[in-house]
Amino acid sequence: QAKRTGTGSIVWYDSVMDGTRLQRLALERDLVEAVEAETFELVYQPQARLSDGTWTGAEALLRWHHPERGFVSPAEFIPVAEEMGVIHELGAWVLRTACRDAQAWPASAKVAVNVSPIQLVAGDLVAAVRAALEGSGLDPRRLELEITESAFVGEDKRLAGTFSELLAMGVTFALDDFGTGYSSLGYLHRFPISKIKIDRSFVADLPGSRPSEAVLRSVVALADGLGLRVIAEGVETLAQAEWLRDMGCEEVQGYLYSRPLDRLRAVQTLSAGSFDPIGSRNDAHRRR
Ligand code: C2E
Ligand code: MG
Ligand code: MG
Ligand code: MG
Repeated sequence: QAKRTGTGSIVWYDSVMDGTRLQRLALERDLVEAVEAETFELVYQPQARLSDGTWTGAEALLRWHHPERGFVSPAEFIPVAEEMGVIHELGAWVLRTACRDAQAWPASAKVAVNVSPIQLVAGDLVAAVRAALEGSGLDPRRLELEITESAFVGEDKRLAGTFSELLAMGVTFALDDFGTGYSSLGYLHRFPISKIKIDRSFVADLPGSRPSEAVLRSVVALADGLGLRVIAEGVETLAQAEWLRDMGCEEVQGYLYSRPLDRLRAVQTLSAGSFDPIGSRNDAHRRR
């Protein structure tokens, strides 16, 4: 940001602001159009169990190939979709598509779908989930909703109601990016969460960073004590995987195992069954 020390810098500052605002307006317009035209794509990143080398399922990740700007990261457009309210429509499309695609996977494989706190708090998530399950015929126990800690900020009765309705359907919940947000542990037993996803920022420091190692150790102990499953995201190296396995982390997701795959390659990979979780045969899944 320019300091208001001279006329020149004020002009520069203003024109940058205008440019940003124009870009933002264009992004908003394109996003609404894309939601209407359904020009998004879902890719699926497999999740693996370390103990026996089987795929447990995959996380659905949203992709937007913008006609002019090319690939736009969900980290960039999800916040815009949230602010504009189109997240409800977009989120419903993600749920429908993910449930339909997962029908082609082995019956043991779950599909994890990211849900925005806005959908959870303000929208008709229950209706969107029900429609996606009914439309696809997917067993509700195979749908896992990934929510972040920020969903619990200012929690109210309605939130508890939404959770219990979804739980009654058979849907499960994973807490995403654990350790990066709202740091209260109370909601872990107040809400029906069955899985904790350790944020990849902790995994990236492995092995050798004492603070991250301490956090990972405590999260695994906490999950164990509460009877929750635990998965580490962003596993990129063998050394990280070995450290996680030795520490008792059951599940992993990351580039070491597989990049996010398009719909057809996801079916192929998940249907291929087991792999050597920490060993040479992993090479087939690496660096895609
Ligand atoms: P997330 O749910 O924490 O997803 C994990 C992100 O880490 C994904 O980025 C994934 O591609 C990336 N990743 C996976 N393995 C590795 C690894 O080994 N190393 C590194 N460096 N990165 C890895 P992506 O696809 O760009 O998604 C970013 C975020 O966008 C997601 O974070 C999620 O919060 C949000 N998002 C994605 N799809 C959806 C969606 O359908 N709905 C909503 N509401 N949010 C979504
Ligand atoms: Mg996620
Ligand atoms: Mg995550
Ligand atoms: Mg994340």
